[in-house]
Amino acid sequence: MKIILLGAPGSGKGTQADYISNNFNIPHISTGDMLRKEINKKTKLGEEIKFLISQGKLVPDKVLFLLIKSRIKKKDCKNSFLLDGFPRTLSQGMYLKNNNIKINIVINFYVPTKVLIERVIGRMVHPSSGRLYHSQFKPPKKEGIDDITGEPLIYRKDDNISSLKYRFLEYKKKTVPLIKFYIKENKLGNLGYYKIEGSDNITKINYLIKNILQKNKKN
Ligand code: AMP
Repeated sequence: MKIILLGAPGSGKGTQADYISNNFNIPHISTGDMLRKEINKKTKLGEEIKFLISQGKLVPDKVLFLLIKSRIKKKDCKNSFLLDGFPRTLSQGMYLKNNNIKINIVINFYVPTKVLIERVIGRMVHPSSGRLYHSQFKPPKKEGIDDITGEPLIYRKDDNISSLKYRFLEYKKKTVPLIKFYIKENKLGNLGYYKIEGSDNITKINYLIKNILQKNKKN
């Protein structure tokens, strides 16, 4: 089953991607995590990516296409993968379609802006696994420490109000047309498109997702 998760920053894509990948054994591909790993390599490309991400701007398609291409050709992605953060624009969606990368399901998380801001400010991440926490809504057992490895958690540098405002604008301008494209693809019978209220509680969302995946099991 090949799945795309769509949603604005803070809509819960990452949290639900963890749920899907752990419970349905589907490789989780987060382009944000891949880009942050490139930054940590301290290459020239990493420096350029760091600058763009810190401003809330999108990284150029050619970088994303290389990352995606090399990841999904790996053996574990032959039958299933879960894309979190890609595609984000119509041109990225067309990249998948034009390269015959067939997608079965698109899940779009819708969350009101006020809730998105509360969720992003206070979000913490375990850098090497991408595991997410929140100081108020999902605190780790020990403050500032990952529950599983005992390693330190960090706040993402782009999770601040000014970068967030820009990320919301980018989302409206570039991702909303992509959503319209997937709604059309759904009407044409090319894939399943599902909209989920991402402000519902996590257990309810897990349940809805489980039903969607079970319904599409044959893929
Ligand atoms: P995320 O972890 O998905 O919120 O992504 C963090 C940042 O990485 C975004 O704000 C963008 O700057 C960059 N990024 C991640 N995925 C993409 C993408 N598909 N296209 C362009 N930039 C991306």
